[in-house]
Amino acid sequence: MLYIVLLNQTRAIFLDRDGTLIQEKEYLHRPEEVAVLPGAGAALRRLQEAGFRLFIVSNQSGVGRGWFTLDDVAKVNARLAADLARDGVRFDKIYIAPEAPGQPSRGRKPSPQFLFDARDEFGLRLEESYFVGDKMMDLECGWNGGAKKSILVRTGYGREAEKSGDARLVAAVIVDDLPAAAGWILARKREDTRMEDGKASCHQLGRVHPAAQSRWTSFSLDLMACWRSHVTDPRQEWSPRLSRTKMKSHWHTVGPSNPSAPFSRMSSLLGSPWSL
Ligand SMILES: [Mg+2]
Repeated sequence: MLYIVLLNQTRAIFLDRDGTLIQEKEYLHRPEEVAVLPGAGAALRRLQEAGFRLFIVSNQSGVGRGWFTLDDVAKVNARLAADLARDGVRFDKIYIAPEAPGQPSRGRKPSPQFLFDARDEFGLRLEESYFVGDKMMDLECGWNGGAKKSILVRTGYGREAEKSGDARLVAAVIVDDLPAAAGWILARKREDTRMEDGKASCHQLGRVHPAAQSRWTSFSLDLMACWRSHVTDPRQEWSPRLSRTKMKSHWHTVGPSNPSAPFSRMSSLLGSPWSL
């Protein structure tokens, strides 16, 4: 069973370090100065338990500038990993780009090279993975790597980035902090699961009542749109009561294409959240 779960871990969260996981401190290189941001541990654990692998992707130009060493970076990362391990969080790998801006670099963000490396090593599907960070270069890294979404947090330099007026921000999700980012991702994951369930249910329905399939597919897509409008707003959770009401009103408008098909039979095939 565990083997199957591990095989299916093809989704990942790529995380910037400074200003996203820990407090932003210019060129941090002392482990004792590591301060995990509030709620970060619990948020990462929720993502991990939902089946996401966790990676850190960090530019550390202080090394390339000669201000501290890669060994200092490793000690800071070890401290961060140990602090978060107390919340049950485990990172699959930490990627560091030590070069200064302008120096040749294989993975310095916004290069997506480390995302490609992780994809190849861990068998990830980047199109189902996310990048979370506090700078435009983090968002760009996610976009360049083909991630499903780049998420900007308002911690660290995030508020400055949000106020920059950069037109590319329209493609990003902007949330207050890492816990909010986790909430958004998990709501999106639930939506994807329900969409897949819905498609499967429509397919199953078609086998039982071929004449009713097209109308019911349309009906279900409307319901998915209704449901999507709720979950894409992270402040709202899925409301069974609202959906049930809308479903009934839609049903009375559309009606069955095959009047002899019992409604209860069809609705039972549609499954959650379309069950009445
Ligand atoms: Mg940062």
